[in-house]
Amino acid sequence: MLRAAPTHPPVAADAPTVGVLALQGSFREHRLAFERLGLNVREVRLPRHLVGLVGLAIPGGESTTMAKLMRTYGLDDAIRAFHAGGGGLLGTCAGAIALAQEIVGHPDQPRLGLLDVAVARNDYGRQVASFEADLQVVGLERPVHGVFIRAPRLVGVGDEVAVLAVYDGDPVAVADGNVVATVFHPELSGDDRFHALVLARWGVAPPNGAPT
Ligand code: GLN
Repeated sequence: MLRAAPTHPPVAADAPTVGVLALQGSFREHRLAFERLGLNVREVRLPRHLVGLVGLAIPGGESTTMAKLMRTYGLDDAIRAFHAGGGGLLGTCAGAIALAQEIVGHPDQPRLGLLDVAVARNDYGRQVASFEADLQVVGLERPVHGVFIRAPRLVGVGDEVAVLAVYDGDPVAVADGNVVATVFHPELSGDDRFHALVLARWGVAPPNGAPT
């Protein structure tokens, strides 16, 4: 069940700014989650939009389309440079595919390759097999409601990568430093605790406080 998204107070002008990659997919929901936490949010469509951001969320959507658009606008190299310069990243679902080093069965699909995981696209089944599940997340007291929509499966996780949540024996949320990936959609639950956890990995305290 999706909960109605709470409204948020005005964001302070001097609050840190995070980006949401806004080429395609569920970027508006990420934007709202970060705004509710008190961050300024910039929609990223061109490399210059990355300047000054503390982190970038890469949303769910269609990973092949997103990859093509990233290439077209030079955002793939720009995001790699952003990461190399210390910028944080969050990839959800198609965003996790974009971050992965390996996309099983799709060796030629462009990807950023910034997270040492192997993903199998659509491995939980087709659209009709989309599902929701409560997930225990490392660092959060109460479970997070995870929405899985044609989710990729994380079939390999590198030694440096921490597993933050598991569903049915498979990792579903992972992190390596300030790079976080989920195969579910934390932005669709109306619960901003996962985004607050990501901000902590980006070294940012949510201006409106961390939700409990
Ligand atoms: N199946 C999609 C892909 O491979 C991802 C689905 C999603 O982001 N909800 O791109």
